[in-house]
Formats: sequence, structure tokens, C-alpha cells
Amino acid sequence: MHTSDDARIDTVAVHGGERRPGPEGSVVFPIYQGTVFSVEPGTGYHDLKYIRLNSTPSQLYLHDKLAALEGAEAALATGSGMAALTSILHAVLKPGDHILASDCLYGGTFDFLTEHAADLGWTYAFVDPRDPASWSSALTPQTRLFLVETITNPLMRVARLADVASFARSNGLLSVIDNTFATPINFRPLAAGFDLVFHSATKYLNGHSDLVAGAVMGGTELVERVRRTLNHYGGSLDPHAGFLLARGLKTLAVRVRAQNHNASTLAAFLAAHPKVAAVNYAGLPDHPDHAHATALLAGFGGMLSMRMVRGLDATLALFEALRLPYLAPSLGGVETLITRPAATSHAGMSAEDRERIGITDDLIRISTGIEDVSDLVQDFEQALQKV
Ligand code: PLP
Repeated sequence: MHTSDDARIDTVAVHGGERRPGPEGSVVFPIYQGTVFSVEPGTGYHDLKYIRLNSTPSQLYLHDKLAALEGAEAALATGSGMAALTSILHAVLKPGDHILASDCLYGGTFDFLTEHAADLGWTYAFVDPRDPASWSSALTPQTRLFLVETITNPLMRVARLADVASFARSNGLLSVIDNTFATPINFRPLAAGFDLVFHSATKYLNGHSDLVAGAVMGGTELVERVRRTLNHYGGSLDPHAGFLLARGLKTLAVRVRAQNHNASTLAAFLAAHPKVAAVNYAGLPDHPDHAHATALLAGFGGMLSMRMVRGLDATLALFEALRLPYLAPSLGGVETLITRPAATSHAGMSAEDRERIGITDDLIRISTGIEDVSDLVQDFEQALQKV
């Protein structure tokens, strides 16, 4: 279903992409598990209905739903967030091309560039996406693409996103953004001028910590190029997982709003606590990106990070004392998770490199769930008392 152009995002999450009437009148779009379907004679290879070719009814339904949420012409589901990223890069880059990339990327994205780009003939320069004055000097005649994230992990920095999109446009670069942490509830990059958005749908889009998937959204022609690349590389999403993802998407708006509220309330509580040395959350007035993040984002997201006054020992003691959060990496599910980035997402970096960019050994990252925030605050309060 095409929701009206002025429909609010909560309505789009429920009704966007839905088939009305659904097959056999079904309100919930079913799982078409079949690998292959009969087609008209003369159908081209990429239009055959086959799961790896991302063209079966369950996949087309999911694509329409994903596109509606990001306000995109077209979308594509992938087997993981990394499959979304690598399919985009392989679709649009050729040997000799150069990438401008944020100097604060998800570890998997950073590792992909640093470990594989050279073999593929691509070069890259890391730039500070919060400092527009530094970008021009990093351009080369071969620069094709500017890659950033909406809210960075684990310090929750927010780039000059509108400037990234306009700089890319005026220099003929493709602007690509990982919108995993913000979700379209808090930021819609295509409306802000980006060419392509991608997600680890494993996180907020699905929201229940029970599948791995990715998503790419953008203009029809670009997404079709990415689809053909994905078709050849083979990282397509299975319809079972796609069904769960579509189900998760319907509650995206209510979940993310609850997580925005929980994270901002918990951040304010922690920032005022004498045993807490620092809290990183762009919604706090003293966060270095607070002013421009407030202008860009509809909400500051469900992720925050913090440090204890007494360092690593206190961090480990806090982990022991907390009752509600799971000590687990990943993010975006309905249950609150805590993790120590130095031991998980950034374990691959040297301690000196981590320290240089502010990811100290004692840093704690929190992915807030949808619990009642009073219970979360109470739990942190009792745990901090024991530390
Ligand atoms: N982008 C971000 C911001 C992530 O946090 C992750 C995973 O943690 C990815 C991309 C990769 O996603 P996936 O694990 O679904 O491949």
C-alpha cells in the first residue's frame, strides 16, 4: 500500500508496503518460502523469481516496506548489514577509485576497508565528518564516494550530515550513510540529500535480537545496480528472516521512541551521578555535537556510553551489580544490553589507537531497551551504590 505522502512515520511503519488485499485476504503478508516460481517466457535473468535474485513475492513486499520507511524510491534487503555495505561499494566503485570515509566507523566497516580495499584497487582517506573545512584537501580526482554514519559507535558523535550531503553533491561524489543507530524514526538521510542509506537491520529495524539482515535504500536506478551486484555475490536474505524483519518494522516507531526516552532519561541520571565521570549522548547539552544534532535529528537514539570515576575496576564491578541489562554486544533490541567496546567491537584496535580516539578500557556502552525507565534508573542507582 502506498501511504499518503503526508502520512506520519508511525502510520508508514504499520501500513507502508502492505498488500491490500493481501493474498487470500490475509492481513499479515505470508512467507513465500518457495525458491522458484513459474514465469512468462522471455523473462530476463534478474527478473526470474528466485530467492537469490531478490525477486520473490516475500522479498518484493519487504523491499516496499523498507523503501516506505526511509522515504526511498526503492529498497533491497540483504543477508546482513555488512552485505549491504559491501554490495553498495562493489556496485558503485571500480579499481582506481578513492573513498572519503568517516574516521569513526563501525569496526566491521573499518576492517573491511583497511583489510580489503587495497586488493580491490580502491584507496581511501579517513576524514573527520564533523569538520567540513578538512574535506576538500582529502579529495583526489579519483574520489567517488563519501561514507559516513549518522550516530557513531561508541561515543555517539554526530557528523555535519547536511554538509556531507551537499559537499558530496557539489563534488560529484555519491553520499552513502549507515543509518543503523538513528533509524528513520530519528533521521531520514534521503530527505537530507544523501544518495544511498544502509542499515544493519539486525539492530533496530528488526528490534528483537533474533535475526541478521541488512537493508539498502535509495533511488531506483542505484538500488537496482546494488541488487544486481548482490544477486551475483549471493548475500540475499532468506524469506523466513524477511518475514520476521517485516514484523519488526511495524513496531519500529513505538520501539525507537521508547528507546529515545529511556536513553535520554538514563543519560541525564548518569551524568548527574558522582561516581560517573562522563556520559556520551548527543541529547545532553554538554555533548560536543548537541547543537547541530538537535537541528538534524528528531530524537537522539537509544544508545549511550559512559565512564566511571574509578576506571576499569569500577566498570567491572558495575557489570556485576546490574540486574536488568544483559552483558552482551549488539544493540537495538527490546532488552537493555551493556558492553565494553574495548573488549568487543573495538578489540581489534591497539590499546593506544583506542585511547587516542577516546575508547578507553573502562568505557561502557549501553543499548537501552523498552523497559520502564524507572526500573532501569533504579537498577543503575542500586548498582552504582555497590561500586
Ligand atoms: N553498521 C553498524 C553501525 C553496526 O553496528 C553493525 C553491526 O554491529 C553493522 C553495520 C554490521 O551489521 P551486521 O552485523 O548485520 O552485518
